[in-house]
Amino acid sequence: MAEIKQDSKTVQIAPIVGVGEFASKLGLPVTTVIAELMKNGVMATINEQIDFDTAAIIGTDLGYDVQPEPVEAAPAPKVTAKDDKAGESRPPVVAVMGHVDHGKTSLLDAIRSTDIATKEAGGITQHIGAYQIKRGERWITFLDTPGHEAFSAIRAHGAKLTDVAIIVVAADDGVKPQTKEAIRYAKEAGVQIVIAINKIDKEGADSNRVRQELGELELVPEEWGGKTVMVDVSAKAGQNIDKLLDMVLLVADIEDLRTVKDRPADGWIIESHVESGRGPTATVLIHNGTLNVGDYMAAGGTYVKIRSLSDYRGRRIKQATGGMPAVVTGFKAVPSFGDYFKEFENEKLARDFAVQNQRQDSIKSMVKVKKIEVSDLTDAISAGEVRELNVVIKADVQGSLESLQDSLKTLGNEEVAIRVVSQALGDVSESDINFAAASGALVLGFNVGISSAVKQLATRENVDVRLYKVIYELLDDMRAGLSQMLPPEIIETVVGKLKILGVFKTTKAFVVCGGEVTEGKVEPGLKVRISRAKEIIGTGTVDNVQKEKNQVKEAAKGEQCGMHIVTATPINIDDRLEFYKTEERKRSL
Ligand code: GDP
Repeated sequence: MAEIKQDSKTVQIAPIVGVGEFASKLGLPVTTVIAELMKNGVMATINEQIDFDTAAIIGTDLGYDVQPEPVEAAPAPKVTAKDDKAGESRPPVVAVMGHVDHGKTSLLDAIRSTDIATKEAGGITQHIGAYQIKRGERWITFLDTPGHEAFSAIRAHGAKLTDVAIIVVAADDGVKPQTKEAIRYAKEAGVQIVIAINKIDKEGADSNRVRQELGELELVPEEWGGKTVMVDVSAKAGQNIDKLLDMVLLVADIEDLRTVKDRPADGWIIESHVESGRGPTATVLIHNGTLNVGDYMAAGGTYVKIRSLSDYRGRRIKQATGGMPAVVTGFKAVPSFGDYFKEFENEKLARDFAVQNQRQDSIKSMVKVKKIEVSDLTDAISAGEVRELNVVIKADVQGSLESLQDSLKTLGNEEVAIRVVSQALGDVSESDINFAAASGALVLGFNVGISSAVKQLATRENVDVRLYKVIYELLDDMRAGLSQMLPPEIIETVVGKLKILGVFKTTKAFVVCGGEVTEGKVEPGLKVRISRAKEIIGTGTVDNVQKEKNQVKEAAKGEQCGMHIVTATPINIDDRLEFYKTEERKRSL
């Protein structure tokens, strides 16, 4: 990392920093920092962690310029095919995008059915997020999640996984908003584009009109002197699919795609799930290197010693190489879609990489400390920090949206509350999910729907979406959710009492003493309150109980026993001990 010059008043802070570490970076006593935090309504001890925003506010108040420390992200390389002049040629990776109903799924099915091997296997295909087909002597890999979510999720990870985007446009419908969006995504990612003008078998199909519309978007067809490859197809009739595949190979050749086999493997996770009997399982798409059964690799916050590898048809393989999707079993936990993976020499290195990624994830999901105005300080201290449940609300009409918002407001108390981070009319959309993911929110829909693509995105982003038709059900669920956030009630039960008759050893950490049980009983593990002249002078824990030098499970009323008590309070003869246990009880609103 390049050294960044900074003057003495500038400090660089990680996304999360311990209060103690922050103070030492500022060169100030910890107490000064804690006091400043308190002024800003944040109660934190030296060992607690604060987020960057909080540190920046406190640092500025103390006269420092707080800058974010450059975070070393998981080193997903910026991959462009041109990076790899060395190595052997590899299959192109293709994604299919386009407007809804223009035939993405049908096209993927049509392409898949050209694969003779799949047909021979009786057409039984598993959904592993990708498949391969062979055209002549060459392989092509298709990401089999239609739509651009797959594409954009991977793009968000800073990687270029796809080499070619097939953009499907229905000849009877023409260029639509999602077509434009798909084109924009593909262009931004710098991938090759092939246009499939679909449904040419249909009445009303007008592929020239589609060419015209695309030309207006600066995609001029080759046959009109431009550079964009466009193929008229019918996914339904299986027409021109071969030609489309040839064109895909042709444009892929422009990139001269290569993979280096002889090096530690890396690539991306393109699908993951828990499979009964096999545990956490993921499909990886290898970029470089070779994966073997028994290799160690890490992906996102998890790692694996590869137990088994299989290809897109579910056949066991010993090795997988660049451009190839392979199903890997043996993960410790399920990695996420789009995670970068890397092979390591041993388990320790793989685990370290996973832990480093976990730390970054926990930063992302960290609950922000609620910022409190200084004028509210006294209220805030007496009330403690308000725990908030963030929600995004969607409803069919303005009236419902308003009444929902009003009702949700009434649900909280001084400890927990619902915070509406976004609200709008209409079905749950991709941007609602992205917003909810970024703000750690739940999505609540009232009398609205969700498309299957958005649902998939929600699953991948781990966003909880709940749709309701009855407002009371929604409110009941939210009340239950808030109740779960209430800190539990601590219930204390007194188990016994004892009078101290002798003290045998006192150190800073423990006391060995003996006495007579006057009420109930004493057992190892119980908590203890120490009183002298009816005043509580300290607390501790019973480590063990002895009767005549033997350790016992309990000593009951009337019996004498010795005890090893963990406490910093010196105990004297005639002190009284009260033994108790505590349990947490859930509370509800
Ligand atoms: P997606 O939403 O883009 O995945 O679109 P689908 O593949 O689900 O297709 C939407 C509709 O168009 C379905 O009813 C398909 O049967 C139909 N369809 C897809 N391709 C063709 C085609 O080439 N010709 C005709 N006539 N219909 C098609």
